Amino acid sequence: MMSPEQPQGVPHAPAQGAAAPEPVVTARGLRQVYKVSRGFLRPPAQLQAVGGVSFEVLPGRTLAVVGESGCGKSTLARMVSLIEPPTEGMLQLTGVDVVAAAPAQRQTLRRSVQLVFQNPYGSLNPRKKIGAILEAPLEINTSLDAAQRAERARDMLARVGLRPEHYDRYPHMFSGGQRQRIAIARALMLNPALLVADEPVSALDVSIQAQVLNLLADLQQELGLAYLFISHDLGVVRHIAHDVLVMYLGHTVEQGPKQAIFSRPLHPYTQALLASTPGIVGQGAGLPRTPLKGELPSPLNPPGGCVFSTRCPHAVERCRAERPLPRTIEARLVACHLADTLTPPAAWQHQPQEESTR
Ligand code: SF4
Repeated sequence: MMSPEQPQGVPHAPAQGAAAPEPVVTARGLRQVYKVSRGFLRPPAQLQAVGGVSFEVLPGRTLAVVGESGCGKSTLARMVSLIEPPTEGMLQLTGVDVVAAAPAQRQTLRRSVQLVFQNPYGSLNPRKKIGAILEAPLEINTSLDAAQRAERARDMLARVGLRPEHYDRYPHMFSGGQRQRIAIARALMLNPALLVADEPVSALDVSIQAQVLNLLADLQQELGLAYLFISHDLGVVRHIAHDVLVMYLGHTVEQGPKQAIFSRPLHPYTQALLASTPGIVGQGAGLPRTPLKGELPSPLNPPGGCVFSTRCPHAVERCRAERPLPRTIEARLVACHLADTLTPPAAWQHQPQEESTR
């Protein structure tokens, strides 16, 4: 299998004179604010789940969004999947502004983005056979007849590594990994440009995780799909991502190519996340793993200044007074006042870049 750094047919830099591929997703300053009831006669509180996130995903590329539970990554996934509109910001899918799109156009856009959920046990209707599950999107969205739908469903089963006889079986007859293959097959039935995968392997055994990640990588090479991959597991992200967006309390703290971030993370939060992930850094050198200390603050009452200031070991007065804006340092964006002056932890000095095992 090819490295994720070189997806087939989707070169990183276009050949001289060739046009750069259009992003499948473009997000600029996406915000999501919820109103939270505070009881009788009290005005609702504002909960900012996502506070102005920007990114692009090109065809054949995977952007992994990482962070602790509650950092806003699943809210971001719901906005990009058109499940809920952003409170603010610009979102384009295949070049079309989804906020300004007419209802008919939005319907078309919905087909171009599909979701794969975390739980392969709950995401498939237990009363329907696999064939019916795969054909349902075609029945609703296309004019294909029954025979054509069945043919497409059988083709897709083969493409995700399942056998033709699985067409007539029920979800409970499959293992977790096979069910996630079926969920991926269903997501691909309408030929989407973007797959939003929200923790797609975290409910699976480690040995099965690798198989599903390999399947996703193969499908991406074959079909030129763009992935928005939501995960809290940096070990998984290391194998699947091309680019990484690290979120903390709804904000981007570091964003750039995976190689740059994994080989030399510059934001203290990214460093802490990587240091607390087994097998990412320091393990071979016998270095201790450093768990992230303290709790994620409530998004109802976020810290002033830098959102990470309550847990950051380097915080100074300026950090509590002034929110750092993302700026470019060493080929990635970092939102930290001190990122260019902090010495990275010794564990990352001269650390060879991690290779994907895909
Ligand atoms: Fe830490 Fe200050 Fe950087 Fe925030 S701005 S990550 S508190 S050093």
